[in-house]
Amino acid sequence: MSIKEPRNYQPPPNCLQDRTILVTGAGSGIGRAAALSFAKHGATVILLGRTVEKLETVYDEIESAGAPIPAIYPLCLEGATEQDYQTLASTIEQEFGTLHGLLHNAGLLGQRTTIGNYQAQIWQQVMQVNLNAQFLLTKALLPLMKTASDAAMVFTSSGVGRKGRPFWGAYAVSKFATEGLAQVLAGELDEVSNIRVNCLNPGATRTAMRAVAYPAEDPGTLLSPEAIMPAYLYLLGPDSQGISGQSFDAQ
Ligand code: NDP
Repeated sequence: MSIKEPRNYQPPPNCLQDRTILVTGAGSGIGRAAALSFAKHGATVILLGRTVEKLETVYDEIESAGAPIPAIYPLCLEGATEQDYQTLASTIEQEFGTLHGLLHNAGLLGQRTTIGNYQAQIWQQVMQVNLNAQFLLTKALLPLMKTASDAAMVFTSSGVGRKGRPFWGAYAVSKFATEGLAQVLAGELDEVSNIRVNCLNPGATRTAMRAVAYPAEDPGTLLSPEAIMPAYLYLLGPDSQGISGQSFDAQ
């Protein structure tokens, strides 16, 4: 089933059954909602994040919902080395055999200031978490994902990753680069693997990051992370087979 707009997808109850999906930044915000939603639609979810307590809370929520028992993998994407990602890949292979889905969701906002005032150390931190970690994670997990009969990778973009906006600094630049990474990778994997690669812009969503970026905004006017899940379920599930190298909006 191919649809024009992933946001209009009506997910069948078990659309992710028998899939193992890794979600980065799974402890809060959109990543938490995605982990819960994927599990409730049948997936075994690997919860990756830097704050163990948050991951444990999501684990408990998934267990209480009667969904497949998830796994927790604590990792700070800022300091992780290439070897750490290799260890992650080996662990997933040992525990689950293969990997069907990867949601690159974790992200840092960084500073909201001019390029002239941007602190170099924060610039590097944002680029490390929002871009370089995605490259390293992707590189480490590609061989495993290639063994799945059907696999999907989703990168998280942003409106400021498609048109530059003043004062968004490294965040905007990292999201442009994320769109580029997804396009390069999708082209390389096209017709030589069963992995599809797409970008998804969540749009204005009620999370902690959004509240920091727009302190004067009434959060009640925003969609919740749960409300934008149809697009995520579509792009990570079998119904998006054949769709790759594209950039979508979740709302
Ligand atoms: P949140 O700040 O609520 O969540 C970000 C997540 O990333 C948290 O789970 C956080 O973990 C994790 N994270 C941050 N740094 C690291 C790190 N070094 N290692 C591991 N995990 C880390 O943001 P959102 O849920 O709003 O954002 C999710 C994604 O959506 C991001 O990529 C963001 O850029 C994008 N986005 C969001 C929009 C919105 O309106 N909310 C709009 C457009 C794009 P911890 O909680 O432990 O800090």
